[in-house]
Amino acid sequence: MNAPVAASASAVTHFTSTRNACKLCAPLGASLVMRGIEGCIPLMHGSQGCSTYIRRYVISHFREPIDIGSSNFTETSAIFGGRDNLFTALDNMTRSYKPQAIGITSTCLSETIGEDVPMYLRQYEAERKRGGRLNAGLEPVLFYASTPSYRGTHVEGFHEAVYAAVSRLAGEGAEVETCRATGSGASPRLNLVSGFVSAEDIRELHRILGSFAGEPGSRRCPYTLFPDYSESMDGPSWETYRKLPQGGTSLDDIRMMGSAGLTIYQGRPSNAVSDAGRWLMENRGVPLVNVELPIGIENADTFLAALSAFWERGIPEALTKERGRLVDAYIDGHKYVNRKRAVIYGEEDFVCALASFLDEIGVIPVIAATGAVNPSFKTRIRSVLRNTREETEIMDDADFAGMLERARFLKPDLVIGHSKGLYLARNLGIPLVRCGFPIHDRIGAQRILHLGYRGTLNLFDLVCNTLMEEKQSRHEVGYTYI
Ligand code: SF4
Repeated sequence: MNAPVAASASAVTHFTSTRNACKLCAPLGASLVMRGIEGCIPLMHGSQGCSTYIRRYVISHFREPIDIGSSNFTETSAIFGGRDNLFTALDNMTRSYKPQAIGITSTCLSETIGEDVPMYLRQYEAERKRGGRLNAGLEPVLFYASTPSYRGTHVEGFHEAVYAAVSRLAGEGAEVETCRATGSGASPRLNLVSGFVSAEDIRELHRILGSFAGEPGSRRCPYTLFPDYSESMDGPSWETYRKLPQGGTSLDDIRMMGSAGLTIYQGRPSNAVSDAGRWLMENRGVPLVNVELPIGIENADTFLAALSAFWERGIPEALTKERGRLVDAYIDGHKYVNRKRAVIYGEEDFVCALASFLDEIGVIPVIAATGAVNPSFKTRIRSVLRNTREETEIMDDADFAGMLERARFLKPDLVIGHSKGLYLARNLGIPLVRCGFPIHDRIGAQRILHLGYRGTLNLFDLVCNTLMEEKQSRHEVGYTYI
């Protein structure tokens, strides 16, 4: 679908429309961060359809309800501005949800007409102080993430919202300065920013952090894990409906991020968005370490080494055993995966970690693609590939039609990524290993474990078994012993 565009009277350039985009909308990622804060509810400043679309996408993956407010733009607000709509939405949501915080995101429409949301929020808070709004006595914390989808993907919206919450709350004052002190015998406090991962992954991160202290939740190795939607987006069934599900990082824990001894940030925010880790370093003096998502032995080793060095404790024996089991699995399964060819795609952080893992087990990622526009993605992927660098085509700003065109020539054996890659796999006649976000055509997506040695083992088994099943199902004999 090449369309000519008149760049000037004398020149014509061509562009190719995006066909089946490999990315999602920026406020979606931001809304997930807001559900990862205890007592917080997201509110989108824009038209109602945006929040409906995001709710549908998130619910189909997590199989949990998620309420997202909307300032509900009409034609009038699109022309004259949506300040009054926003104020009404804030009043209504405060009254009906009684939240501890409201996270506001922008949408394409409110950004396009140039809404100055930070100014509106200052005006609203000033009115609230004067008692000029409803809801006397209820004053949820307000914070704002600018998330136009034409500037970034769902993951860029995610990182932007992490920044918005941290810079709003961790700058409020050194309430817990003591948490950086080690002289009292207490361990220093750690910030862990988890990245756009599954609810099960967040539970696994809690388990790993807790194992350093000897037991989950111990104050010996204190930490803030943010955002934490492990319960709010994957909780037990309820007897009665709750407007705001339980779970999430508490506001106080986010405040304490400003006085921690280290931030470990899983993933790397692109230059297009604000960076909470860098903000904590520059404004609160908290050192920063960026690591890849701990998928694969090398990435998991790096993550655990950072924890071990910070808390000055050895790697817990349970984790060492898990690593040993993973190495054993690599040995058992290498003959099924060695030199196989995979197409991988999705959000940048996830694809980088996945590429590193595949390279480690001998699978060639013949295409590593993301829908994000980020030229540094290529450098980043190349830096994690040791054995297969020359054989990998790296695509940013990619769509599924473009991937299919290249993949027909590259003859992959399997496709690894979220469920939007189904038609890619079908057209190529090869299997799809579902992981990441979103997965809308299977149950249990929120419980897929990707991180740490256990998560890597899960992915390794999935990849091996998919290839074995494919071989078995295509063979006329259908061996029961492979
Ligand atoms: S208009 Fe923009 S913000 Fe709204 S759903 Fe579409 S991409 Fe997302």
